[in-house]
Amino acid sequence: MTNLILLGPPGAGKGTQAKRLEEKYSLVQLSTGDMLRAEVKSGSDLGKQAKEIMESGGLVSDEIIIGMISGRIDQDDCKGGFILDGFPRTVPQAEALDTMLKDKSINMDHVIELEVDDEAMIERICGRFTCSKCGAGFHDKFQPLEKEGVCDKCGATEFTRRADDNEETVRARLVAYHEQTAPIAAYYGNRGILKRVDGMAEIDAVTRQLEEIVG
Ligand code: AMP
Repeated sequence: MTNLILLGPPGAGKGTQAKRLEEKYSLVQLSTGDMLRAEVKSGSDLGKQAKEIMESGGLVSDEIIIGMISGRIDQDDCKGGFILDGFPRTVPQAEALDTMLKDKSINMDHVIELEVDDEAMIERICGRFTCSKCGAGFHDKFQPLEKEGVCDKCGATEFTRRADDNEETVRARLVAYHEQTAPIAAYYGNRGILKRVDGMAEIDAVTRQLEEIVG
């Protein structure tokens, strides 16, 4: 069983790589962004609170996020190991995670930062889209569909683009990252459990670097 955290700004490839590691090592990807998008879609109270914040590129309150992730980690499918993607995103979240893991007697094995250039993130994010049926990720320029309008993986023909994947919101998300999330690297770095990989490399090369760490 392996538990890991993927760190890095929006667009760094956390979701893409998490999906690959999930398959290879039978882990569960826990994306707080995906959980929030599901809440927004369902129209729940939590979703209603989160929607505007997400569309502006800000961060949802630590309290909401911590409650959401704590409940999720308790579920059975996480017992075989999980990948945190998009959490923790603030130092208080990282501290709360530490307490949570200690209480649940769970060990964090790796904290891995995907290092990337900010400017490249705008182009990466603004061109990305996902198959509505199987969730496979694509990109207009970097990972186009083999056959126009048809998902390479499952053959579906419906795709979605995230509401917050526009340049203005991405810039705000990058500011939030530098102000509130980047300090987490030092938090884990000081404890000697942070590893860094070159997130600007090709998708497969990044996966190989991660596999070397996870083993
Ligand atoms: P992501 O899918 O990780 O890019 O997250 C999309 C949006 O959801 C972010 O821009 C935030 O508004 C919100 N969000 C996701 N994860 C967190 C978190 N751990 N803490 C606060 N807000 C979050």
